[in-house]
Amino acid sequence: MKLLLIEDDQELTAALQPVLRDAGYALELADNGIDGEFLGNELRPDLIILDLGLPGKNGLDVLRSWRSSGNRTPVLVLTARDAWHERVDGLKAGADDYLGKPFHTAELLARLEAIGRRHSGNASNELSWRGVRLDTERQQAHTADGGTIDLTGIEFRLLRYLLQHPNDVHSKPRLSEHVYEEDLQRDSNVMEVYINRLRQYFGKDFIQTRRGQGYQLRPENSQ
Ligand code: CA
Repeated sequence: MKLLLIEDDQELTAALQPVLRDAGYALELADNGIDGEFLGNELRPDLIILDLGLPGKNGLDVLRSWRSSGNRTPVLVLTARDAWHERVDGLKAGADDYLGKPFHTAELLARLEAIGRRHSGNASNELSWRGVRLDTERQQAHTADGGTIDLTGIEFRLLRYLLQHPNDVHSKPRLSEHVYEEDLQRDSNVMEVYINRLRQYFGKDFIQTRRGQGYQLRPENSQ
């Protein structure tokens, strides 16, 4: 899951970075409203955390401009403590959720998970497909026959992304884009290695190859 964090408070950003990375997000950063607005369109993130008080262009204007141009990426806004009007303005401008500062990182993570689930149309607490269940808290997968697998960071991000978009066909570049971070080596051929590893865990047919298009989870009702 690619997460864009738009926040000008460097101390807060530095504190959140390791927490968000440990939670399995591929993190992108912006420290002002102008870059943030651009990256929110350009990088096609899965989720955005948007501070409202930003230099360059304030967060509400950034959000309004995304929404009026059809950018529907889920957004959690960070508001000043006790500023109830900011929360109202944020929701009216198209935010999916808000969090007042200061906040506990555990609450931030829980809200991000919830937004991600709602957005992918999956209201339950876990992601699953054809008997494979993903425990996002422990970063473990449970196989159909009852086994438990501890996933590496990239395996976890890849499986989560596939489970959140179970009906889509994903090209290798698109998968790498959502699983790796911007500044890391992004060789989309390596994606094949990870896909094959998930197949070893969950069965050869769990992920299908669509010739010339990419990969797709095997449809739930197929034999
Ligand atoms: Ca700020």
